[in-house]
Amino acid sequence: MVEFIAGAHVSSSGGIFNAIGNGAEIEAEAIQIFASPPQTWRQTNHKPEAIEKFKTLHTDSDIGEVWIHNIYLANLAAEDPEQLKKSIDSVQFAMRIADAIGAEGVVLHTGSHKGRGMDAVADQVTDALIEILRDAPGTAVLALEDMAGQGGQIGKEFGELGLLLNRVKSDRLQVCLDTAHAFAAGYDIGNTEGVEISMTEFDREIGLDHLAVIHANDSKIELGGLRDRHENIGEGHIGMTGFEAITAHPAFEGKAFLLEVPGFEDNDGKAHGPDLENVNRLKRLRAATAVAV
Ligand SMILES: [Zn+2]
Ligand SMILES: [Zn+2]
Repeated sequence: MVEFIAGAHVSSSGGIFNAIGNGAEIEAEAIQIFASPPQTWRQTNHKPEAIEKFKTLHTDSDIGEVWIHNIYLANLAAEDPEQLKKSIDSVQFAMRIADAIGAEGVVLHTGSHKGRGMDAVADQVTDALIEILRDAPGTAVLALEDMAGQGGQIGKEFGELGLLLNRVKSDRLQVCLDTAHAFAAGYDIGNTEGVEISMTEFDREIGLDHLAVIHANDSKIELGGLRDRHENIGEGHIGMTGFEAITAHPAFEGKAFLLEVPGFEDNDGKAHGPDLENVNRLKRLRAATAVAV
């Protein structure tokens, strides 16, 4: 039996504390939020009262782990020094908020070498990560996310993240595994054998002890398609067979699975994902692993 946690990304608009109610509404056992709007550099001013309210509501809820996803604009491999500084600032801001609200840590898209290759950017990215961790208060971890690989994204291959972890050498630098990204990057996690092969490579290149959290997304993109389009659990190219294989793998014991999926159409004809149905699909997968063993 693999006792993973069924969680989801939720909105915190109107106040960071709203995330707790939004998570409870879809019966999520863990949540992920943005600490500021992901498409802008502007940092939200979270008032101390808002942080306190978040912590109180969190304590009184059934939600366990909380994660913050960094803004999308950050690129630790940016060539322009000003872009690099703003990128580092954005992660430091997210790490401070993570510490303040008692979150596990921050998930980061490391950046893009834009075709220059890992060798060209490894020193700069290593230094940036060391600086971020040196200045980050508390115990929150920084989890680098594997990527689909479009446009020279760092993290298409597990080995690229492993290289950075090896250079930085901090227990607080870990990895977030996004299932849709891995599949689009060419890791065939749509079946049991493929999951085994992929997680063996993960263990060799990164180390399973550095797997912090999972982004549980099916993929609209075919295997190796190198693009990033999420689909509801069981409805994409990974499929229910793939998710049965993933959720049965012992590497995921105790890990939070965070949904970032479009959702199913409501009565109003619109999807508001991640939704209760996707959370329930994760919970049914978990229940099935209890029977399988
Ligand atoms: Zn992400
Ligand atoms: Zn994605």
